[in-house]
Amino acid sequence: ALLFAGRRYAVLGLGNNGAPAVRALAAMGASVRAWDDNADARQALADIPGVTVAPFESLDGLDALVLSPGIPHLLPRPHPVALMAREAGIPILSDADLLYQAVRRAGSRARFAGITGTNGKSTTTALLTHMLATAGIPVAAGGNLGPASLSLPCLPDDGVYVLEMSSYMLERLQDLHFDAACLLNLTPDHLDRHGGMAGYLRAKWHIFDSQRTGDLAVLGFGDTPGDSVPLMVDDLSASGGRVVTISGASDKADLSGAGGILRDAEGIIADLAEAPALPGAHNAENAAAATAMALALGVPRTAIAPALRTFSGLPHRQKPVATIAGILFVDDSKATNADSASRALGCYDRLVWIAGGVAKAGGIADLAPHFPRIAHAVLIGQDAPALAETLATHNVPHTQAGTMEAAVPLAMHLARQTGAETVLLSPACASFDQYKSFEHRGRHFADLVHGLATMEEPG
Ligand code: ADP
Repeated sequence: ALLFAGRRYAVLGLGNNGAPAVRALAAMGASVRAWDDNADARQALADIPGVTVAPFESLDGLDALVLSPGIPHLLPRPHPVALMAREAGIPILSDADLLYQAVRRAGSRARFAGITGTNGKSTTTALLTHMLATAGIPVAAGGNLGPASLSLPCLPDDGVYVLEMSSYMLERLQDLHFDAACLLNLTPDHLDRHGGMAGYLRAKWHIFDSQRTGDLAVLGFGDTPGDSVPLMVDDLSASGGRVVTISGASDKADLSGAGGILRDAEGIIADLAEAPALPGAHNAENAAAATAMALALGVPRTAIAPALRTFSGLPHRQKPVATIAGILFVDDSKATNADSASRALGCYDRLVWIAGGVAKAGGIADLAPHFPRIAHAVLIGQDAPALAETLATHNVPHTQAGTMEAAVPLAMHLARQTGAETVLLSPACASFDQYKSFEHRGRHFADLVHGLATMEEPG
């Protein structure tokens, strides 16, 4: 349907969100001006009726500017086109807002759930989506983890959109109203972009902006030291909506997964030991958050435990790949820094650890408390020598294997030799010295593990 007939938009940045936005807006009857500094990105959108690909000389007369999440529009470094929009009084939107407008124009009263935080967004988004789907509620998930908001289908009145919201998307929220919104946690990250912790918190806090009586606000209880969310609970309570605090570690939260038991004031909801894809206290936090939102959105209490059991987890986040000769191989390629790797390392008793790539500032020194669990470390990538140095000072047995091809069979051999039950790829490093992305690295690991499995098969 031509829901946006007669409307005029400019879309800057034609990547994962921008390109689908251009296509969807044009398909809904809008006229769209599109630009990206990258010629390949522009080329992909040439020849679509209603779309003009050209640099923006003026934005006069447009209804809105749609900016890709990665393009800043606020101080300290606003993009020149964003400044142009501001001067012309043109609203700056994200594609999530356009989805909301399109759904309402189509006459659907589908509800919206929004999830943000520093860590655990994707897991919580996927888990809530799974809970709603297993309860038979029509659901579409997207946003930051993909697919782009404007690629999602139109849902009926009883449907729910589950959107993972980055701080960049939240900064430009206009009409989008979340029936259930969640701020999981907030620890220092992306500070340069937001001009410090206060700016980062302010950006995330927009997720609650349009909430009213009857809506649900879910707030992390501060499981990680330095988390600034708990400081804000009182502010939110004062603003009218219902607030539920969640935690994976403290039983003082309204809904807690402390000790692996999910419970609230009404009693026990589920035993997380039965949820294989959600190991660790950090995942207990994610499970508590998804459960709080699911209950508010109409998932029956008795449906939560079965959904936790059948959740298969997201790829490359502590994802079990295979068990070979009693040794579990786990892909945590998403762990591109020491903090993420520490979550995974904390989940296994005795392991062979595959790590390395391009190290972040500080390297792996912060992981020292986990070193006693490591039977042997196998190092790959550019910064293997630096990692080896840290391990040597702590007397952790280690080998520099260079590549993943060498690392995987060696890790298997070492696991057998040392009696370790787990081989964990949790690199604590970025992947771009050897791979296109962390996904690429994780797939390579899994392929090599499956290769080992074939060799182990008898006959
Ligand atoms: P995001 O989408 O926010 O990046 P993910 O769900 O993809 O988060 O998880 C990424 C990594 O962050 C995981 O592999 C895990 O190491 C860590 N993590 C997940 N959930 C949490 C949490 N609630 N608190 C702290 N760290 C977490």
